[in-house]
Amino acid sequence: MPAPLSAAQLARAVAAGDMTPHTLLEQAVSRAQEAAPLNALVSLNPQAAEQADEVARRLDAGEVLPLAGVPVVVKDNINVRGTRTTCGSRMLAEYVSPYTASAAQHLLNAGAIIMGKANMDEFAMGSSTESSASGPTLNPWDPARVPGGSSGGSAVAVAAGITPVSLGSDTGGSVRQPAALTGIYGLKPTYGRVSRYGLVAYASSLDQIGPFARNAEDLALMMSVIAGPDPRDATSLPAPTHFRVGTPDDLRGLRVGVIRESLGGNTAGVDAALQGTLEALRSAGAVTGEVSIPELSHAIATYYLIAMPEASSNLARYDGMVYGQRVPGADVTEAMTLTRERGFGREVQRRIMIGTYALSSGYYDAYYSKAMKVRRLIAQEFDRAFEAFDVLVTPTSPFPAFRQGERTRDPLAMYAADVDTVAVNLAGLPALSVPAGFEAVDGVRLPVGVQFIAPALKDELLLTLAGGLEGLGAVSMETPPQT
Ligand code: GLN
Repeated sequence: MPAPLSAAQLARAVAAGDMTPHTLLEQAVSRAQEAAPLNALVSLNPQAAEQADEVARRLDAGEVLPLAGVPVVVKDNINVRGTRTTCGSRMLAEYVSPYTASAAQHLLNAGAIIMGKANMDEFAMGSSTESSASGPTLNPWDPARVPGGSSGGSAVAVAAGITPVSLGSDTGGSVRQPAALTGIYGLKPTYGRVSRYGLVAYASSLDQIGPFARNAEDLALMMSVIAGPDPRDATSLPAPTHFRVGTPDDLRGLRVGVIRESLGGNTAGVDAALQGTLEALRSAGAVTGEVSIPELSHAIATYYLIAMPEASSNLARYDGMVYGQRVPGADVTEAMTLTRERGFGREVQRRIMIGTYALSSGYYDAYYSKAMKVRRLIAQEFDRAFEAFDVLVTPTSPFPAFRQGERTRDPLAMYAADVDTVAVNLAGLPALSVPAGFEAVDGVRLPVGVQFIAPALKDELLLTLAGGLEGLGAVSMETPPQT
C-alpha cells in the first residue's frame, strides 16, 4: 500500500476540483473492504453518499471547507443521527441515534464525510478492543496482536489507510495507547476542550474526545475543527480557532521533563524510543531533565476507583425501559435483570458491581472519597512539575502490542496497560502519543509511542512538539504490512 494522502492534502485537492468527495468516499469504502479482516469498522454510514452530495453543493456555492470531502470514521460511542451507535455492546445493538454529537457535527460542518463507525471495547472499557460485541479489531502490524483500546477501530482505520483521520474517546488512555500500538498520532485534549455532547458517557469527569492522524498538520486541522465551547456541554471551554503546528526552531530552549516513575518496567524497544526522542529534542536545543511525580504509584488504583463508580451510575440507564435492548420477563424486575445480564458483557458487569460497591454506604469514604483526594494530589504534583518544565514525557505504553487473548483472563493485567496514561485524565491535562520507533518481537516489527503531557489548555504546545519532531525526521511514520 502506498502512503495514503493526508486529510489536508485531500481537502486541498477537493477544493481545487482535482478530486470529488464521491471519489474519495468510494476509495475509502474500497479500502475498508480490503481491510475488512482487521474488523476496524462496525458499520458504514448509510448517509455518506448524501453527505458527499451536500459537500459538492457547498463547494459549488463557494464555501471554504477545511475538510472538504475528507472521509473520516468516528468511534461507535459518538452519536451521528440516523446511524447505529452500539458502543460495542449487545445492549445497544439496535440503537439508532436521534441526534448528532457536537464533535461529529463540527466535522460535517467542515466538509468531512463520516463514512462509518469504528469498533471499540464495550462502552470504552478496555485496552485492547477485544470486548466488542462485534468481535475484536486486529493490529495491522501483526493480526495476532491487539491494536490497543478502547478506540482500537478508530486507530486501525487510520493506521491501515482507510481514512486519514478519525475520532476516538479517551477516558484513561483510549486514544493515546491504541495510537502508540498502531504507529500513529493520538491526542487527548485538555478536559473540556472538545464538547462531550453526544459522546455516550463512560466516566464523565474523565471522558474526552480526541483525534487520530498520521501527521501533525492533520492533528492541528482536526483540533481547529472540533475544539471549542458548546452551550450543550457545561464543562466545555474556549479554544483557539486555529491550532498551529511547530517547527524544529520552536524546540530551542524548551524544557522537557522525563517522569522518573515511568522509566522502570518498560521493554527495551520502548526505552530506546524514549531515549531517541529525547536525543532528537536535545539536538534541536531543547533542555531535558528528570522530574518525579511520586503519587503516580497510586494512579491506576485511583483511576479505577473513580471510573468504575461513574460508570456504574452512567450505565444505570440501560435497563430495557427507555435505553437498552429489552429482554422480556415476568415482571419489571425480572425484565430489567435479564436485560442487564444479557445485554452487558463480563467486563462491563464487573465494573458496574465494583463501582456500585465503592459508592455504597460504609465504603464510600474508604474508596471513592479517598480516590478523589488522591486525584487532587496527583493534579498538584503535575502542577509542581510544570513549574520546572514546559512539557513532560513518558512512554505511552510500557510495551508494544500484546497478543490477542494474552490479557483477557486477568483484568489487573489489562488495567496495567494504562499505567502511563490514566494520571493525565485524572488531572484533566492534554497529552499526545507520537510514533517514536519500532521494537522487534518474535521477528515482527511493532510500533512504540512516546507520550508528551502539557499543562491544561496548552494543547497547542503538543502540536509544536509534533511538528518540531517531524521536521527533525524523528517521527516513525510507516505503513503497516497487513491490511
Ligand atoms: N483502559 C482504560 C479503561 O478501561 C481506559 C479506557 C478509555 O480511555 N476509554 O478504563
